[in-house]
Amino acid sequence: MSAVFAARDVTFRYPGSESPAVDVVSLEVAEGAFFALLGPNGSGKSTLLGVLLGEHTRESGTVAYRGRSLESWKRRELAREVAFVPQSEPLAFPMSVRSLVEMGRYPHVGVLGRAGVADEQAIESAMERAGVAALASRSVTTLSGGERQRARIARALAQEPSTLVLDEPTAALDLRYQMETFELLQALTLERGLTVLVATHNLNLAARFATELALLTQGVVKADGVPSEVLRRDLLEQVYHWPVAVVPHPGPGFDAGAPQVIPLSRPTRPRPT
Ligand code: ADP
Ligand code: MG
Repeated sequence: MSAVFAARDVTFRYPGSESPAVDVVSLEVAEGAFFALLGPNGSGKSTLLGVLLGEHTRESGTVAYRGRSLESWKRRELAREVAFVPQSEPLAFPMSVRSLVEMGRYPHVGVLGRAGVADEQAIESAMERAGVAALASRSVTTLSGGERQRARIARALAQEPSTLVLDEPTAALDLRYQMETFELLQALTLERGLTVLVATHNLNLAARFATELALLTQGVVKADGVPSEVLRRDLLEQVYHWPVAVVPHPGPGFDAGAPQVIPLSRPTRPRPT
């Protein structure tokens, strides 16, 4: 199987930081995978995404995208392959949803900056797929959190990438929009063979939708593999420093039986007698 992203022994340190934010990490994201990067706050998820996207200069190690070292890809060339949906961004400027989605075409539009028929089609189809076509003329400042997130995903789809990278795409969404977002990402992998790499706090959604997980802690990959290999009580308690139970999803649905993590109340200390 060809890897989309392959990181080998990657270390990255923020300037002035004593400990590396990414500490000798090796990771492979297979073609067509729905890969979830998990881990507590500050465990290095966003930083690792930045390293894979070539935004951070590594201290050591190698990163390849589709078998070619990241450095050998021109920025624009990589932008036609990989779309990134950052965790948050100011969308205070009252542009329309359509204009936002149009921005996704930047790696494709010619030097004169004129959009052609192919661009129009990509924009329409991206808005349709992400469920924001009806919102096309609305200002992004008037959207709900869920609608705004879908518009940002539409912008990424307009880029017509083969790989989609998202940082905490469900962080501010209610349960329906969380489910819709993960369903959309799953559908994109199944229907179009897109590779999805998502950093998320949502262990339970990752367990239901992702085909492969990696659990980070303090910049180190503690475990990776299919959900049942990673979402284990012992590992999670070590990483999150909190007691948990892991129970099978009750179903019904394709995901019945997926491991679901329930944080427990703190164990009560035995009373002195
Ligand atoms: P996560 O996305 O898992 O919450 P991050 O990748 O944002 O974690 O952060 C990993 C570590 O790097 C944390 O200790 C964080 O404080 C540190 N860090 C993140 N961004 C910066 C920065 N710009 N400068 C210095 N340290 C940073
Ligand atoms: Mg983060």
